[in-house]
Amino acid sequence: MIKREKKIPGSVKEKSEGIKAGGPCAVSKKCGGCQFSGMAYKKQLSLKQKQMEELLGDFAPVEPVLGMKDPFYYRNKVHHVFGRDKKGNVLAGCYEAGSHRVVDIGECLIEDRKSQEIIRSIKGMLRSFKIRIYDEDTGYGLLRHVLVRRGFSTGEIMVVLVLSSPILPGKNNFVKALLKEHPEITTIILNVNDEDTSMVLGKVSKTIYGPGFIRDTLCGCSFRISPQSFYQVNPIQTEVLYETALQFAGLIPDQNKSGTIRVIDAYCGIGTIGLAAAKAAPACSVTGIELNPDAVRDARLNAKENGIRNARFIVGDAGRYMEELADAGERADIIFMDPPRSGSTEQFIDAACRMDPSRIVYISCGPESLKRDLKYFQKKGWKAVRIRPADLFPLTEHIETVCLLSNTQSKKKEF
Ligand code: SAH
Repeated sequence: MIKREKKIPGSVKEKSEGIKAGGPCAVSKKCGGCQFSGMAYKKQLSLKQKQMEELLGDFAPVEPVLGMKDPFYYRNKVHHVFGRDKKGNVLAGCYEAGSHRVVDIGECLIEDRKSQEIIRSIKGMLRSFKIRIYDEDTGYGLLRHVLVRRGFSTGEIMVVLVLSSPILPGKNNFVKALLKEHPEITTIILNVNDEDTSMVLGKVSKTIYGPGFIRDTLCGCSFRISPQSFYQVNPIQTEVLYETALQFAGLIPDQNKSGTIRVIDAYCGIGTIGLAAAKAAPACSVTGIELNPDAVRDARLNAKENGIRNARFIVGDAGRYMEELADAGERADIIFMDPPRSGSTEQFIDAACRMDPSRIVYISCGPESLKRDLKYFQKKGWKAVRIRPADLFPLTEHIETVCLLSNTQSKKKEF
């Protein structure tokens, strides 16, 4: 006979079973980050599928959303703001939705567990190191936020302590004590944010342990990540997303051997998509364009460290730079574009079309702005031929989409 385990309400076992089923999070209402908290993952995916079909179905059939096998603890970037409750207890978590009240997060269901453990350890160390929590109202106190980033494939971990002033008293002992508890930490950075702002990081950073960055591996390339650089927060699904993008671009390893394929990676961040393309198809010549100079510095170093010579990176506004290229009569074969949530611009799209590519692959984290931009592309004779959503943000309402566009008026042969 099989013995049934008795369920104790609220026990760890019941909690974890509930969590597996998409079960409740104690602070989901206050935090507001997970709009689908408590909903089974299958249902979340079918809801996202339906929403995308309603929004984009008129452009092209929406292919089935690429979901995750295990949709929990996927975030490689964990940020907690610090505060105190009325009794003076230290709180670490997020701002209550629509306010500046700090909600203490015991355990978040989507953030990396190890990173959360590190933040809990720091919270526990504050009293003995006499580190005071910053008070937004009075401007007194030192510690504002802790940010932890973990390279899932390398195991490297970055801890950023965001302080209101550059001096951390007892710094060396603090580092020693933190490393004793978490020897897996590979770098610790002090960041100074003395402004009255909702931005987490200030402009000045100082590395107090390790190299000041971590590495992670995606699509066979290794990437250096600085505290300020954009890096997708769900690396498992990012690989799925980029593989789909490369497939839509027709860049299949060992093919496209002859000639040079001119590839643009617009809004390139630290060069992830362009470098994956350059590695997959050595016949590519990649130009990456990105506004953030730190990210471009990382992209250039990433190319070097991966032995990739067929990629260059430019600091600049993507729309303006594309216009300059188009004005100079430059052509492209493939254009990847991965703009921020607000989408791209007419200036960019006009220039991209003038560069007469065979394919445009649009990677979007903002379905509404994607719809707007697809409409504009349509006016210019460019049609969406494939649309594939990828769920990079389980439990939340957000979604990424890869869209392949082709020129309906072009009779040109593909590269
Ligand atoms: N393709 C990268 C980054 C995508 S996020 C990746 O997958 O990791 C969007 C990027 O666009 C950010 O790095 C942001 O700094 C950059 N960006 C925002 N506005 C821009 C503009 N006008 N011109 C160029 N880059 C821009």
